Formats: sequence, C-alpha cells, structure tokens
Amino acid sequence: MPLLDDIRTRVEAALEHVDISPDTLELLLHPKAVHTVSIPVRMDDGSLRTFEGHRVLWNDSRGPGKGGIRYHPDVTIDEVKALAFWMTCKCAALDLPFGGAKGGVAVDPKKLSKLELQRLSRGYVDAVADLIGPDVDVPAPDVYTNPMIMGWMMDQYRTITRRIQPGVVTGKPLSMGGSQGRSTATADGAFHVIDTLIGKLGVDAEAPTVAVQGFGNAGAQIATLLHEAGYRVVAVSDSRSAVHAEDGLDVPAVRRAKEGNGSVESVYSEGDLERCGADVLDPDELIALDVDILIPSALENAITADNADDVRARTVFEVANGPVTPEADEILARKDVAVVPDILTNAGGVTVSWFEWVQNRSGLVWSAEEVADKLRGRMVDAAEVIHARASSAGSALRVAAYAHALERIGEAIDAQGSVSTFGAGE
Ligand code: NAD
Repeated sequence: MPLLDDIRTRVEAALEHVDISPDTLELLLHPKAVHTVSIPVRMDDGSLRTFEGHRVLWNDSRGPGKGGIRYHPDVTIDEVKALAFWMTCKCAALDLPFGGAKGGVAVDPKKLSKLELQRLSRGYVDAVADLIGPDVDVPAPDVYTNPMIMGWMMDQYRTITRRIQPGVVTGKPLSMGGSQGRSTATADGAFHVIDTLIGKLGVDAEAPTVAVQGFGNAGAQIATLLHEAGYRVVAVSDSRSAVHAEDGLDVPAVRRAKEGNGSVESVYSEGDLERCGADVLDPDELIALDVDILIPSALENAITADNADDVRARTVFEVANGPVTPEADEILARKDVAVVPDILTNAGGVTVSWFEWVQNRSGLVWSAEEVADKLRGRMVDAAEVIHARASSAGSALRVAAYAHALERIGEAIDAQGSVSTFGAGE
C-alpha cells in the first residue's frame, strides 16, 4: 500500500473511537503546504550538481510545524508527506504545542565529502528559508542528518535573516544552543514506553528477550539502555547482517564494533561465533525471531503483508517511523502481537526538541537531570493514558494513540471556527 494511503487507513480506524468534526477530517487529510526545491551544490571537483529537496507542512493548527530532515537516496515527496502527517499526530499525541512537518533531500550523504555535505545543507536552508522559522516550522535531524548538520543550518538561517534565532532548528550541537539529552532522546523515550508497558502487555519474564532491527542512532542506543536495565538483547541487525546469541549479546562490544568497523557482524572474529554460542543471520531473519520484544528501528515498511506471518515476537515497539504497514497490523492483531505505535514509542526525540526550542526562546539552559526528568514524566504519562484508552475501548494501541491525537487536533481546529461555529446557516 502506498505510504499516503496509510494515512487514510490510520485516520479511518481511529474515527470509530473519536468524534471529530468534518472540518478536522477535511484538513487532516490534506497537507497545508508542499514544496519541492532544487539545490545546486558546487562539488569538490568544481562541477555543479543539483539535488532535489522537499519540505512539507502538514498541519499547524496546534503550533508551528515540527519535523526532521532526512538525507537518503530514496527520499520522495510522498514519503516526506507521510512523515509530516505522522509528525502532526505524534506532536498531538504527546500534547506538544506543534503541528507536523518533514523535510528530505534525495542524496546518498555517504558519497559526499564533508564540505559538499555542508554546501548541500546550507543550500537546503537557502531554498526553504521562507518556509521555516521558530514560529513557522522548525526542522530537526532524521535519518543520516545529525547535530553538525543542524548547526550548519541554524548558522545559514542566521546569515540569511541577520538574526541569531537558535529556535529555528532543533537537535543542534550543545555549543550552538542544543539541549542536554537530545542526542539520546528518542531511545530514552522509547525505553520509558517499553518499561511502562511491557508488564501491562502480558510479558512477565524477569529478563525479557529483545531483537533490535537497525543499529543506528536510535537502535544502538535503545539496545544499550535495555541491556543496561537487565533485558536480554538476543539479536541486532544493520543493513548488512544480524548477530544473534540466545544468552544475550554483549551490546557495548557490538556498539564498539559497529562504530569501529561499520558493521555489527564485525564484533565476532573467526572462531568467536561457536565460543560465544552466537550466529550471524541475514538481516531479514531477525524479524522472525522468537522474542518478547521486537524493535524495528531502521526504516518504513519493515513488517509488511509478506513477512508479518513470520513474526513470533509477543510485542513490537516501533522506534522507526512507519515500520509496520496497515496490512501487517491486521495480521499481527490476529496473531495477538501487541504493536506499540511509532507516534508514541519514538516521540522522545521530538519531546526533547520541544525542550530545546523552549530553552532557546526563553534563554534558559536546563541540566541533563532536568531534561531526563521532564522526558520521563511526559513519556510515562503518554504511555499510560494511551494504554488505558486502548483497554477501555478494546482497541489496538495504535488506534487509541491516533484517536487521542485526532481529538486534540480537532479541538484546535474547532476553536479556530469550524462547521459547528458557522454551519447550517445559523
Ligand atoms: P540511522 O540512519 O542512524 O540508523 C538506521 C539504521 O538502520 C542503520 O544502522 C542501517 O544500517 C540500518 N538499516 C537500514 N536498512 C536495514 C535493514 N533492512 N535491516 C536492518 N537494518 C537496516 O537512523 P536513526 O536516526 O536511528 O533512525 C532510524 C528510524 O528511527 C527512522 O525511521 C527514523 O525516522 C526513526 N526516528 C529517529 C529519531 C532520531 O532521533 N534519530 C527520532 C524519531 C524517529
């Protein structure tokens, strides 16, 4: 199913559990603004190359747009639209004062030098400068973008506007107005959601077993946090391979191997596998492992109608955006697999982005402890409220999270004047 059709499916499922006005539905099914831009970049060899970039503002009824910028060769405008819609629902589900937006550039950043990457990032801001701003739409990092790139973007916005406005971008380096805790916030938030819900979802093992697909910013960190908290991380994967050890992986060692040699597999030298009771799998095999917790943290469409039947996990926590398709959701529900949706599980990143934006605008600087406490409170509350809503409605957690989000967006749209204010010729 194309990503954009997902949107209608998700909204329609939630509509059975929430009463929203026709205006809310009409506005929510269409992006407010869609821009595609050309970004000419002077390459190191002197040639000029043009990259295609996008920025989509899906909805800003609850506040300025908020959403990351993705650098990936497969970025398309439809993907950016779907991600912007999910951001709208995520911010509302967590009650953050933001709408939803997203950006992307079709590029393989691994093929650019650092200087080319900088020119591309500054070029992106040149192209979208009229569309972003602390009160309009606030970008952040996503796949293959990072604090360094956010710092360049903020600096370029300063050059264009001749104003220092750190709140234009979040996920910046600490030295440029970034927040404590931002770099690990997505995984920190996911950890609180998992720890809050795992018992409620019927997993009572003392050391629940975990498989993590994708060992990047979010995946490596959530594997580390769970390992440190006594969960048994039995498998992790990157795009090349998966490593699996039934007694549990030495996650810090896998992390060192990934950072040092670029692959999770390199944690094992010849002869190690047998000694450690471990094996190397094809990355796709990780999805089918018999574990308590499966954590997709790579890209969209990891679990589809084609492989959902293979899933043997008891719970799936979506750290990636959109890893389970609507068709796969139905199959997993039939198999009694609880899916905790992305718009709750990975909302820690945007929550600390909000903290960063608040600090930038107030001139305050919060300590790491303050940020961690605020994040924990927010994530635990959201997980409990959404779980309670799902239990009382007898619905899937995803449906409850969307119902929760749509209700809040609906309140904002109605407050601005909707059919109930102006309708029926009254
Ligand atoms: P990243 O680029 O740092 O990591 C992605 C990882 O996935 C890499 O290790 C890559 O090798 C791996 N991968 C790609 N294809 C794979 C496959 N088929 N099988 C196994 N591994 C595969 O990206 P990230 O920032 O960690 O983001 C991952 C996901 O989490 C994305 O969906 C992103 O939108 C979502 N997310 C990230 C954040 C954040 O703050 N980083 C916040 C919210 C959501």
